Amino acid sequence: METKEFKAESKRLLEMMIHSIYTHKEIFLRELISNASDAIDKLYFKSLTDDKVGLNKEDFAIWLTADEETRTLKITDNGIGMTEEELENNLGTIANSGSLKFKTENKLDEDSQIIGQFGVGFYSAFMVAKKVTVISKAYGSDKAYKWESEGVDGYTITEADKSGAGTEIILEMLDDTEDEKYTDFLDQYRLKSLVKKYSDYIRFPVKMEVTHSRPVEKSDDDENKEPEYEEYVEIETLNSMIPLWKKNKSELKEEDYKHFYTEKFYDYNEPLRYAHVKNEGNANYNALLYVPSKAPFDFYSKEFEKGLQLYSNGVLIMEKCSDLLPDYYGFVKGLVDSEDLSLNISREMLQHDRQLKVIAKSIEKTISSELKKMQKNDREKYEKFWEAFGLQIKYGVYSDYGMHKDKLQDLLLFKTSKEKKFVTLDEYVTGMREEQKFIYYATGDSIERIEQLPQTELVKDNGFEILYLTDNVDEFAIKTLMKYKEKEFKSVSADDLGLENTAKQEEIKAKEEENAGLLKELSEALDGKVSKVILSQRLKSHPVCLTSEGEITLEMEKVLNSMPNGQKITAQRVLEINPEHEIFGKLQAMSDDKEKLGKYAKLLYSQALLIEGMAIENPVEFSNLICELM
Ligand code: ADP
Repeated sequence: METKEFKAESKRLLEMMIHSIYTHKEIFLRELISNASDAIDKLYFKSLTDDKVGLNKEDFAIWLTADEETRTLKITDNGIGMTEEELENNLGTIANSGSLKFKTENKLDEDSQIIGQFGVGFYSAFMVAKKVTVISKAYGSDKAYKWESEGVDGYTITEADKSGAGTEIILEMLDDTEDEKYTDFLDQYRLKSLVKKYSDYIRFPVKMEVTHSRPVEKSDDDENKEPEYEEYVEIETLNSMIPLWKKNKSELKEEDYKHFYTEKFYDYNEPLRYAHVKNEGNANYNALLYVPSKAPFDFYSKEFEKGLQLYSNGVLIMEKCSDLLPDYYGFVKGLVDSEDLSLNISREMLQHDRQLKVIAKSIEKTISSELKKMQKNDREKYEKFWEAFGLQIKYGVYSDYGMHKDKLQDLLLFKTSKEKKFVTLDEYVTGMREEQKFIYYATGDSIERIEQLPQTELVKDNGFEILYLTDNVDEFAIKTLMKYKEKEFKSVSADDLGLENTAKQEEIKAKEEENAGLLKELSEALDGKVSKVILSQRLKSHPVCLTSEGEITLEMEKVLNSMPNGQKITAQRVLEINPEHEIFGKLQAMSDDKEKLGKYAKLLYSQALLIEGMAIENPVEFSNLICELM
């Protein structure tokens, strides 16, 4: 008989399990029962449409059999079973297992403390067993197979005898050590309490023969004898079988919800918030909704699939029903269970199901209101949420031509020039000064960069707060909103900043007219790179800055041009020169020297580009010009 080796990554996980210093070895039982329940789910689902299965709902069960003499624990199910190939693929390599994928991609191997807080799968059996035997017969197959392994050395698969479809897992317990009494896992009370603790909501009965004792009936002449006891065996169902979401909220503790989450959704981070919804009326459903505390590694990629688990009256009909969540709430995890949906509904039919749409709408409302509650009552958590998923909400504002902006705008947070902490738009507007007409914003790669932008000087000097937009999508979202509470958004680079200092404006206008020739000269020297050169109203200490006129701003130009296969788009650039800066006097003085003026124009333009965080077009020329000056 050939001993096969485990695939490399399976071997690693296996080693990790065997040498685990994790104290909760008891979770192996939860894992094996969950697998058994999943397998029964599959066959039960088949049985609803296929009479050949020949089993009724009450026939399905998971059995635990403990034998202290042989030191074995057997977990038996009459589920879908595994073919030889499936035994090989599922247990020989676990690359397909959801839990392993999660673990390797999150590099948890180094930290075995964390394992056990979420699904660790079949291999957890090796935390308590020296030998694991799996005897399985797939539904529809006439052959059964036996998979055996004593750990990292490998496994064997041979033909076996088994009557019905299903799987039997036999664990030969490790010898007791000083630290761990594996014998305990064969004790009926321990097993009962473990099932209650971890697997109570499993939808199929977990059954066990439990030995009780009772006093023996005494005959009259035995009066004075010591009482005698006899043992008898009873089959008990150890779990209540009520799914968590169907239980009364009053029966459940925060821990129950959190535990359910970490186990069911492979996330070892506790959720930031959960909601248990019991909805009646136009849509009847129960739902458990969770806001994770971290974005999954693939969240902002094409691979990410949003969706909630969908149950029809307790039976899982779809693992990820994407129609239940709008894209902007795609981060929400959880499940929905409704009696209103037909069990045999296909994916295609589901998309058009009216009832599903009603449920989705109601769920969206719940999510919105939960997020708002979190923003109001638990700001710290909300900001955590925002750091993880804010980008998605901002995309939501911008997407579908702004169709969703009204319901999303109050979820937005931005850092601002004041204290650099997050504010909502409502908080910004409430804090606006009386004479302030606009909601000001500035864009840049980072807060530090924006802080240095010359364009922000004047607005700040007026004592007005500025929203700092650092994500690519920000300005697009702001442009989609256009206004918030009747207040228009205004970029600090815009022409009309709405600042009341007409006297100064007039003065600069006059200066511009006086120097019209010079400005034209500068603009021509830049050879079409800017649409004009003007004297700046907004600069105080900096010599120059770059702004734009028209719809496309410099920031938008950057974003649009960085998109794959985006067309080249350029903003109409305006070079602003500070008339109060001494450089302006120098320019005036050299107005007769066209050649020199041209060089200065290029230098100033390049400087402005650098300040904007944009690449200069000809770095060699720039460097040469500077050397020349030096
Ligand atoms: P996961 O449950 O995370 O997918 P496991 O390592 O627990 O990973 O199990 C691997 C796979 O083996 C399962 O996805 C399932 O296909 C199969 N499997 C495990 N236990 C059983 C069982 N009792 N009956 C049928 N298939 C099973």
